[in-house]
Amino acid sequence: MILELKNVTKVYPVRRRRNGWFNKRWGEQQAIKKVSLQLRQGECLGLVGESGSGKSTLAQCILGLESLTSGEIWLNQQPIHTGRMKDIHLYKRIQLVTQDSASSLHPRMTIRDILMEPIRNYFPERKVRALDICLSLLESVGLEADSLKKYPAQLSGGQKQRVCIARALAVEPEIILFDESVANLDTTTQSSVLNMLKRMQLERQLSFLFITHDLQSTRTFCDRVAVMVQGEIVEIFEDWDEELVKHEYTRTLFQTLAD
Ligand code: ADP
Ligand code: MG
Repeated sequence: MILELKNVTKVYPVRRRRNGWFNKRWGEQQAIKKVSLQLRQGECLGLVGESGSGKSTLAQCILGLESLTSGEIWLNQQPIHTGRMKDIHLYKRIQLVTQDSASSLHPRMTIRDILMEPIRNYFPERKVRALDICLSLLESVGLEADSLKKYPAQLSGGQKQRVCIARALAVEPEIILFDESVANLDTTTQSSVLNMLKRMQLERQLSFLFITHDLQSTRTFCDRVAVMVQGEIVEIFEDWDEELVKHEYTRTLFQTLAD
């Protein structure tokens, strides 16, 4: 067990306007309700749920970008995010790849600078051979060496997504969280990125949390799939058999597969 969520709850305070402009009250938006989830070493766990079910919030909580309202998160049998300070060392161990690759790459940095940055920050001793490492990273995500001198705007959506994945791999994390990372790619690019990820995972024994709203992409890629509805994990399944699933939302998901 590499990552364990124990009864994690996240409540956002939201401002609600009542009876006109002056009478404002703070309300609550419960984004995650008592979620317990376990990610095993070297496993790819899918997290499927409709929009607004709290998937991104869960990823933010794991990274410590959002504080927990209650519950605990354990990494390698040790609780994390317990103090009031952000633990920046965790970014070395857990990386996030988001859906919006365009905005997570700095527009004025070349791909070379983008990939060099984590190497310089996390592995100062590798500075002298940083360029070779960049090249091998690019190769492993299936990009040409001449992309190094390009800017993000000169790449296609799929290529930008690969750069984001390469940057996450440069840190050599134990866990990578993918938040709808392949959602806005076309199906052929999607499957080639997924194949590449699967290979990476087997090579480096990584653990993935693969967040998505569409069940199809988890089918070949994930070992287990957790289903999230309105902030709760309602079901975790391994077998792709509609007879065995219990929750009705999972059934409706399965029906989308058949079409
Ligand atoms: P998903 O990624 O599954 O689409 P999110 O985790 O983004 O869902 O959101 C879950 C719920 O939490 C939504 O109802 C959303 O409106 C709410 N929410 C997300 N972020 C915030 C925030 N920073 N402040 C208040 N409410 C938020
Ligand atoms: Mg989201």
